[in-house]
Amino acid sequence: MIIAIDGPAGSGKSTIAKMLAKRLGFKYLDTGAMYRAFTWKAMQLSVNLEDEDALCHLLDQTIIEFQCKDESLHICIDGINVTREIRLPSVTNNIHYISNKSGIRQRMVRFQQELAAKGNVVAEGRDMGTVVFPQAEKKFFLDADIEERAKRRYVEFKPSNGKVSYDDVIKDIEIRDKRDTTRIDSPLTKGIDSVYINTTRLTIEEVFTMILKEIESIVRK
Ligand code: C5P
Repeated sequence: MIIAIDGPAGSGKSTIAKMLAKRLGFKYLDTGAMYRAFTWKAMQLSVNLEDEDALCHLLDQTIIEFQCKDESLHICIDGINVTREIRLPSVTNNIHYISNKSGIRQRMVRFQQELAAKGNVVAEGRDMGTVVFPQAEKKFFLDADIEERAKRRYVEFKPSNGKVSYDDVIKDIEIRDKRDTTRIDSPLTKGIDSVYINTTRLTIEEVFTMILKEIESIVRK
């Protein structure tokens, strides 16, 4: 079974996807982490981020793996654990060079489908329900007002980077939303068959309960 969860940054999809995977005993597939890890590698090697052929060639020689350690998911690229590095603002700011290239997306999609073929999965990203897993048994699109999403990110970043202001966070999210929703290949969009949940005024527990109910309804059918 595949549960697909899409949505913009700060919509709560990662938290919910992890909780769901744990509750259902499914594998958790964080596709954003894959785009992040490859962005990190390309930056480390100073590859021209505009050069699609060079990037595709590099991705063909790259091994991306997930490992479960101490109850959390770690991501390794070519054997290097980059779980922390992929969250650096420099990586976040450069991801769009990677995620807007069709050659890269095709390879990532294939890889994500192979990972999911091995069992039950909760997959989260931007194109899970629309492109990667159109056959998913249940699809959700999580959303929230931009002010609320920025507030969540600001609270998350503050302990590790006290210099970041709320205004910076909201600007970053606005830029990322625009890039993710307007790219030509697989833009972030709600598919007609996905359940839309606006999480602005909901607690994580409330969202989790709503999603669980939806999933239970298809299991009972
Ligand atoms: O989910 P996360 O914020 O880690 O994703 C980082 C970026 O990776 C997104 O802003 C988007 O550009 C890209 N991404 C994507 N397709 C996915 C997952 C992430 O294009 N399925």
